[in-house]
Amino acid sequence: MPAAPAPALVWFRDDLRLADNPALTHAIASGRPVLALFVFDDGDAGQRRRGAASRWWLAQSLRQLARAIAAKGGRLILRSGAASHVVPGVAGEVGARLVTWNRRYEAAAMAVDAGIKTALTADHVVAESFSAALLREPSTVKSRAGQPMQVFTPFWRAHQAKGEPRAALPEPVRISGFAGAIASEDLDDWGLEPRSPDWAAGFGAAWQPGEAGARARLLAFLDNGLASYAETRDRPDLAATSRLSPHLRFGEISAVQIWHAARLAAELHQPPGLPKFLSEVGWREFAYHLLYHRPDLARENVRKRFDGFAWTNDPAHLLAWQRGLTGYPLVDAGMRELWRTGWMHNRVRMVAASFLVKHLKTDWRAGEAWFWDTLVDADPANNAASWQWVAGSSADAAPFFRIFNPMAQAQTFDPAGDYVRRWVPELAGLPAGAIHQPWTAAAADLAQAGVTLGVTYPRPIVDHARAREQALAAFAELEDVE
Ligand code: FAD
Repeated sequence: MPAAPAPALVWFRDDLRLADNPALTHAIASGRPVLALFVFDDGDAGQRRRGAASRWWLAQSLRQLARAIAAKGGRLILRSGAASHVVPGVAGEVGARLVTWNRRYEAAAMAVDAGIKTALTADHVVAESFSAALLREPSTVKSRAGQPMQVFTPFWRAHQAKGEPRAALPEPVRISGFAGAIASEDLDDWGLEPRSPDWAAGFGAAWQPGEAGARARLLAFLDNGLASYAETRDRPDLAATSRLSPHLRFGEISAVQIWHAARLAAELHQPPGLPKFLSEVGWREFAYHLLYHRPDLARENVRKRFDGFAWTNDPAHLLAWQRGLTGYPLVDAGMRELWRTGWMHNRVRMVAASFLVKHLKTDWRAGEAWFWDTLVDADPANNAASWQWVAGSSADAAPFFRIFNPMAQAQTFDPAGDYVRRWVPELAGLPAGAIHQPWTAAAADLAQAGVTLGVTYPRPIVDHARAREQALAAFAELEDVE
């Protein structure tokens, strides 16, 4: 019998799917036996450690991926340690002649990948990387003058002017797996899931991590959400958005798949929600464009004038915000939804983030770090770009003086108070007219609802009007150093 050809190694990272996976498709098409590898290298080579909620998701997603690969005839092995050692090491162990992966866009990760490519090439192993996470490579969208784009609207226009994204690749029918001996670590030994306390206990009810869960979520949204998306996407009391963000973050589904599926679903009746939905996917593209050109997006103000901002950074305020005990019901509902499910509605993210930065004058980086730890969709580009957008410190940002009024936002987007009732049950008995500002409620309403302010639910930790004035005054003091 002729010897089997040397294997191809597919290094999975933020692309935990089989369909529309160019690195996997390419390895299979090479005709070589395929071995799939995931390397847990958190914190290595200057890369940011994953947050706790992301680690929980990663564990679930890897289990699903391993099963899906095995069902096709292949095998996923797990290793931990510096990828710069592990990837060439495993390639050497199995005698791989081809290593493939899909690209990522954080500077530290790109440096790791470039180093590995050089090392493999020196060993006469072919290393090939592919575009898989975004609709387009972030370097390919430029202004007319050939510069990176700073503002979303012209970015999205230039992006769309390039035409349709590439076609999505089908799921492989079969994987001809590497049959040799090769050791794998045990996922349970990585300690990715909380034990005691198991704060992720509620996550399982809210999510189905993995490629099958992502697909189900997309189909449900196309059937029930897309048509009304433009009118309802800002309503946290309705399940009106796709909730695809963690699936996208871990690459269980690709932006390209979502794009084409949404276009196809809308072909017959062209719902008004379609362009809006696609442009939200476009915001993700824009965030990656920003991150690609500004590797320090999560650490440095884009607008340098914000370096001089007089943050108060009161730890008691930060703690009250994290726990959902600010006394502002919409903010508290969002922070508790985040803690219980690892996700928060976009409108409420904006209000809660604005409250931390502007009402509590806390540096946006403290909020970014909390979201990074607690969101299941914590994303290196979207999180940093969104926090800078809310703070007013990026080029295309909500101006600092636009300070969200948490009561007005709540009355507009949670008109009956149902969202607050769900996440702040101690206020559930209050009528809609009072639930968003319980300190204005009539004594009889408070008594009937069993609410004692300062005892069963906090009084506001800051006064809205005074906090607003102070934030504006601090902003006015900024020296314009741009
Ligand atoms: P949908 O409305 O169904 O949108 C579809 C997809 O488009 C989303 O899954 C997401 O990938 C993308 N998208 C939607 N809105 C935005 C946006 N404003 N910016 C960038 N991409 C967007 N999103 C993350 O994925 N990870 C984060 O860490 C993150 N942190 C955020 C922090 C703050 C302070 C704010 C204000 C927003 C943040 N967002 C983040 C953006 C947005 O809130 C989420 O993407 C959205 O709520 C996810 O829900 P969905 O999948 O139902 O979105």
